[in-house]
Amino acid sequence: MNWITSIPITMPDSLNKIYDIAIIGSGPAGFSASIYASRYKLSNIVFGNLLGGTISEAHKVCNYPGVSDISGYDLAMNFYNQSKDLGGEYSTEHIVDIKKEGDIFRLISDTQKEYFAKTVILGIGTNRNKLNLKEEDRFLGKGVSYCATCDAMFYKDKVVVVVGGSNAATMAASMLSEIAKKVYLIYRGTELRGEPMWIEEVEKKENIEIIFTTIVIGLEGEEKLERIKLSREYNSSEYLDTDGLFVEIGSVPNVDLANKLGLELDSHRYIKVKEDQSTSLEGVWAAGDCTSASNRFRQVVTAASEGSIAANSIFGYLRKGSSAYSTEIY
Ligand SMILES: Cc1cc2nc3c(=O)[nH]c(=O)nc-3n(C[C@H](O)[C@H](O)[C@H](O)COP(=O)(O)OP(=O)(O)OC[C@H]3O[C@@H](n4cnc5c(N)ncnc54)[C@H](O)[C@@H]3O)c2cc1C
Repeated sequence: MNWITSIPITMPDSLNKIYDIAIIGSGPAGFSASIYASRYKLSNIVFGNLLGGTISEAHKVCNYPGVSDISGYDLAMNFYNQSKDLGGEYSTEHIVDIKKEGDIFRLISDTQKEYFAKTVILGIGTNRNKLNLKEEDRFLGKGVSYCATCDAMFYKDKVVVVVGGSNAATMAASMLSEIAKKVYLIYRGTELRGEPMWIEEVEKKENIEIIFTTIVIGLEGEEKLERIKLSREYNSSEYLDTDGLFVEIGSVPNVDLANKLGLELDSHRYIKVKEDQSTSLEGVWAAGDCTSASNRFRQVVTAASEGSIAANSIFGYLRKGSSAYSTEIY
């Protein structure tokens, strides 16, 4: 569904205006930052062509505090509407370039428009690695998932497949084994690579079957995923019936803009942040899945939390010229 075209979008006030904060990334981190910024009376604009970010792709979200069961799309719209009602602006443009010129940031969008801001929050998220199979996008939310923490409960007493061999995959298989009837853990290598504790955990579960030296080469089904095609030992192929396929082969941070700004990254290429979400460059904060914070627990609740901290820090920074956030405003 192309809902970007079906929602009323607040157009930017003026292209020459200098915003207090330019928020790059329209996910929970970005909109949470906007909500807090507006309440601090800081002018702000959120950029991003996927309104609501990654969570808008989730079939259901049942772990965001205060909302027991909501579609990812509806949660994303709630974030957007709250931000808009408080005065935050939103643009579907993608930011392709950013420069710091003196104390001001110049942002260039994919439509070649320029925007100016005193501070920047990067809430640019990560991209989950995909298998890059033909029907993968069609089955997203209909059998294909990239988040076992989020979607496991939809597979009670069902048969599921987890693809991957590292911690994310073994953790996902272990969690799913508590809910699903049968879990296949499919890995292209000859031995699992995760922490020994997690490997032991999956090896002792009776309903987990580990299949090595095998890759998924096809997805099939009518309305939803029904079976996958495997290539065992990379030559013979066969089918495996399954209700769900969890792709746990890692995610890649979006680092283009961070690199353009010369920000310090950690060894996994996430943006290094301090406890106030500030980065290595004065005037730039980062929040959500793209950062090294929140114990790397990449969820909506942590992204929203980091976004609010970034906005709070900027409020202190713009008011006092110090990035140390303060509780005295309460
Ligand atoms: C299928 C699925 C189900 C999930 N279910 C749950 C769940 O039930 N509960 C939960 O807590 N978490 C869930 N998650 C995880 C959750 O979606 C993320 O943790 C959360 O969205 C992170 O928010 P974020 O704002 O940091 O980044 P994102 O949501 O990834 O948003 C980043 C945004 O930035 C945009 N962007 C990137 N670069 C630019 C640029 N240069 N210019 C403009 N925009 C840019 C992207 O397009 C994207 O819209 C799920 C994830 C998936 C994939």
